[in-house]
This record gives sequence, C-alpha cells and structure tokens, in this order.
Amino acid sequence: MGGTAPLDRTSPVFDYAPAPESRSVVDLRSSYGLFIDGQFVEPVAGGSFKTISPATEEVLAEVAEADEADVDLAVRAARRAYTRTWSRMSGRERGKYLFRIARILQERSRELAVLETLDNGKPIRESRDVDVPLAAAHFFYYAGWADKLRYAFPGRDPRPLGVAGQVIPWNFPLLMLAWKIAPALACGNTVVLKPAETTPLSALLFAEICRQADLPPGVVNIVTGAGDTGRAVVAHPDVDKVAFTGSTDVGRQIARAVAGTEKRLTLELGGKAANIVFDDAPVDQAVEGIVDGIFFNQGHVCCAGSRLLVQESVADEVLERLKRRMSTLRVGDPMDKNTDVGAINSAEQLAKIRELSDIGEQEGADRWSPPCDLPSQGFWFPPTVFTGVSQAHRIAREEIFGPVLSVLTFRTPAEAVEKANNTPYGLSAGVWSDKGSRILWTADRLRAGVVWANTFNKLDPTSPFGGYKESGYGREGGRHGLEGYLR
Ligand code: NAP
Ligand code: MG
Repeated sequence: MGGTAPLDRTSPVFDYAPAPESRSVVDLRSSYGLFIDGQFVEPVAGGSFKTISPATEEVLAEVAEADEADVDLAVRAARRAYTRTWSRMSGRERGKYLFRIARILQERSRELAVLETLDNGKPIRESRDVDVPLAAAHFFYYAGWADKLRYAFPGRDPRPLGVAGQVIPWNFPLLMLAWKIAPALACGNTVVLKPAETTPLSALLFAEICRQADLPPGVVNIVTGAGDTGRAVVAHPDVDKVAFTGSTDVGRQIARAVAGTEKRLTLELGGKAANIVFDDAPVDQAVEGIVDGIFFNQGHVCCAGSRLLVQESVADEVLERLKRRMSTLRVGDPMDKNTDVGAINSAEQLAKIRELSDIGEQEGADRWSPPCDLPSQGFWFPPTVFTGVSQAHRIAREEIFGPVLSVLTFRTPAEAVEKANNTPYGLSAGVWSDKGSRILWTADRLRAGVVWANTFNKLDPTSPFGGYKESGYGREGGRHGLEGYLR
C-alpha cells in the first residue's frame, strides 16, 4: 500500500448485518452453589450475590458467597484429596485426567465462549478464538508434563507442595483459571480457587466439567465471593501455596499476609507496557499491532500496550493511520460476531477509566475517539487515544485497564529504551522495526517479562509469562510454570 493514498478516500458503503451468536447453547441456572469436594453445596451462612451481564446489566444468576467457614471446608476437602488420592497417583494417571478436561473444554467450547461473553462483556469473537482455545491448550500442555516432571528438572526429585489457594481476576476468567489449575494439578497439588466477583460463571461451568471428567472429589474446589473470600483463601493456615493474579495493590496486601509463613507465593500483577515503533517499522502492521495491543479485550489486559512510543519522524503518519483504523472498530453488542470492542466489565471499572481519562485531559494531553454510538444500557467506553502525553502525566504512569492509549514520542533508540523502562511495572513490551539487530538491541535493554517483536499480545502455553518490579514475581506457562508448584 503506497504511503500517499488519500486518507479521506471514500469507499463503497457496505454495512454489516447483525450476526448475533445464540445464547441457547448455554443452560444458565438461576442460582449456583459452591463447588466443594466434588459437590455443589449451599454456603454455611447462606450469603449470595448477583452476577450481571455488563453489556445489558441483566442479572444472569445468583451466586453463593463463601465465607471463612466455607473456605475452611474447601481447604479440608483439598487436603483430603491431596493426601488420599491426588499426590499418590502416578503422573501418568494425573495426565489422563488433564487430557480429559482439555478435550471436554474443546467439546464444550461454544458453550464456554457464550457464557464467558455474557458474564464478562468481551466480544464473542475473542472468547471463541482466544480465551477458550488457549484455556484448552494450557490443559493439553500441562497434561503432557504430568508424567515428565523429572525431565523438566533433571537430577532433582520434584514433589508437589500440597494445597494451592488461587485467586484470579475478571479479565480472562476461564483462561486465568487454566493458567492456575492446569500446572497445579499436573504437579500433583490440589486447589481451592476463587474467581472474581463479577465473572464467576465460567469457573462454575468448569466445576461441572471436572465432574464430567470424573476428577476425584476435592482435587478442584471453587469458592465464589468477593475480596473477603479471597482474603480467607490466602489466610487459611493449611494452604501451602498462594497464586494470585490481580492488581498490584491487592498483591501487596497478599504479600504482607503470607510474610513469615511457610506459604509459597507467586504474584502476577499490573502493567503499563511500552509498544515501541521505530521509523523503519512496517507501518500498517504496526498499526494493527497497536490496535491489538490496547483495544483487545477492551484494554482489560495486564500486558496491554498502553503506552505507544513512536519515533518522532513517523509519528504523524502512524497516528493518522491509527485514527483511521480506530474509526473502523466496531463497538457494541459482545454477542455479535462482528464486534471488535465489547463492554467494560463493571460500573467500577468504567468509573476508573473515566476518572483517569478526565485527568489526562486536565493535565493537558489531547484526547481523541472515533465517532461511535454506544448502547444506552450497560457499561461502555469508546476506543480513545491521547497525544501530547508527557512522562509525568498520570495516564503515562498508571494502569488504566481500559481502551485508552497514551502516545509519547522519541528520537533515538536510547531514548525509547529509557522511556519504556521509566515505569514501576515490567510485565511486557513490544518492538516494531524492520531490522533484527535493532529489535535484539532494544529487547536486551527492556526490563519486561515478555518482549514481542513485530507482534503483540501473543500468548502461548509453552512460553513463560510474568513480571519484573511491581508487576510481580514467579512465572506462569512453559516449563517455568511448573516451578511454582513443586518443592
Ligand atoms: P483485584 O482487584 O486485585 O482482584 C483480583 C482478585 O483478587 C479478585 O478475585 C478479587 O476479588 C480478589 N481480591 C480482592 N481483594 C482481595 C484481598 N484483599 N485478598 C485476596 N483476594 C482479594 O484485580 P482486578 O481489578 O480484578 O484485576 C485487574 C488487575 O489484574 C489489573 O491490575 C491487571 O493488570 C491484573 N492482571 C494481571 C495479570 C498478570 O498475569 N500479571 C493478568 C490479568 C490481570 P473481587 O473480584 O471480589 O474483587
Ligand atoms: Mg458478570
């Protein structure tokens, strides 16, 4: 494509017809219990909360709220299963269960994708093509390791830790569950997992899948609830390992709570990734990567490329093409197969995105969004780009966790690296350039757990993922992901 193509070229107008995915594949129950010891049970104190669809604010189901007494029952069940069955079973047998779960995830993928999109607000295209297949891939991958742990760590005698308490966020509910549960089980641990308050439903369907796979009772326990339930999981004295994915603030509280105990801890926290575009980058590909980096999953992505660092000499061209591309993003009904950007997950998250964006304007950055009609019900925020951003602006430093991109410019590679590393986080980064040597030079100097070259937000079960600095510690995925679950 020539760089001189007129930007206001009018193309023939074909609009998309609605292409809604059917809800009928999902059998939503009006209420859900806790999944403890292989059974759905009522919570001891009888508490419950509602989960809604953020796209319509429709109540989807009433979900049990676990308190300390319920968490205690779940941990006891996990301990029993650990001692009596799971840690005694051969790796080969454990692997069979994991393969079975992986296959059922594939078989029920459509149902899982629809449920995830209803509960979370993400586009069906993403839950169908990313969340669910990747979750199944994690189970397949770790199923393969279950009987090969000695080969993963030659010369050592790897043993499971015991009961893992796991707390996950709402942005990739089923996928984060897979990241946590698959390696834990492969290594011979049992788990008590708490999904996020706003997105409990796919974890509860996963509980059903554990039953369908004949997983021994107590190996997987799901306790739904809010922050207090998570606190109870983390604080339980019979938990050997705590694995947490979520915000840096809560991660700090958890680190304090387990300090001085024998518990092992891994933390996957926030990020403020730099996506660096050099002047020799293939511009159209880079623009796709920028869009994918920040508007995928409404920007609710810990490794999102939320800071665009673009070389000054190409900044105008990149921005012009970026804005043109943003104008073609389809924002709206997440159940429509043509939707690119779905609903913001909750009213609270929307308030946070609005607040930080308003601060961006107040601090002097220029805000731009393409014209788009947002639905009147539900929680929505248009794809937004801020230019004229300086390093000191809050929108350049704080994680917004929404579809908001901050653009900064640089002149030399050294300046790009300095700006990219000027953040308390260190989870991911992207580099766009035609030259391999420049990519390697830059990647070497970036303090980030993952560096993507001429691509962005590519996740794979075989590749370790995790952060530096305030993005946490420990790695998930790959052979490295086994280490957090072994002695
Ligand atoms: P969050 O508020 O920290 O919540 C994460 C989970 O912890 C939720 O299940 C939450 O329950 C629970 N929780 C809240 N307070 C707790 C406490 N005191 N003790 C134990 N558990 C507690 O984070 P979020 O807003 O859901 O998720 C967004 C954050 O996650 C972002 O910062 C993002 O960058 C990060 N993230 C990181 C990764 C990674 O791999 N590094 C991946 C995805 C997301 P409730 O649902 O009831 O609040
Ligand atoms: Mg919900």
